Amino acid sequence: MFNIVIFGPPGSGKGTQSKYISNNFDLIHISTGDVLRTQVELGSELGKEIANLIDKGNFVPDDMIQRMVKSFVLRNKDQGKGFVFDGFPRTTEQASWLDTMLAEINEELTLFLALDVDEAELKRRILKRGKHSGREDDQDTSIIENRISVYHKKTKPVIDYYIEQKKFQELYGVGVREEIFANIKVLLEKIK
Ligand code: AMP
Repeated sequence: MFNIVIFGPPGSGKGTQSKYISNNFDLIHISTGDVLRTQVELGSELGKEIANLIDKGNFVPDDMIQRMVKSFVLRNKDQGKGFVFDGFPRTTEQASWLDTMLAEINEELTLFLALDVDEAELKRRILKRGKHSGREDDQDTSIIENRISVYHKKTKPVIDYYIEQKKFQELYGVGVREEIFANIKVLLEKIK
């Protein structure tokens, strides 16, 4: 299988590029943010707890995320040639858990692909997205700043984890989305 993590700060284009990647390479896209928002829409007690965390830009606990990812992977592993993980792992603990979980099904991560986008562009994109998506966490500047700061504190160290594994690649993520994908495609075709 071909298993990729698409990585980057909020607003770096992970969701958009994941869709292109999954369509072109027959991979199953899992966005932990989307899985969580689906839970919120169900309106359950759990959904309300999740909404409280997401709306402030804080993380949902690892055990909950890991259960969701594992169940998604087990349900979908025969549906494509591999997975695109989007929004996961967001901590080094999640990264090491992902390795263990994939090993349990005799799989491993092929590539960790980071998108490089400057902070002003991230904020501009998120606010623009918030106008259409209705996502509360995309509409308030202080929440957006909190998400970017959580990214720097907790998520960015994940990069070192994958540099050590020699799986880290980075591409410039500003420009026309189709052109960014064209660069991703060249890279993936070399590795596939
Ligand atoms: P996203 O759609 O990836 O921007 O995620 C939206 C929100 O969902 C994040 O700000 C977090 O509150 C939560 N979330 C998504 N993925 C994770 C994760 N891997 N670990 C913890 N919280 C997450």
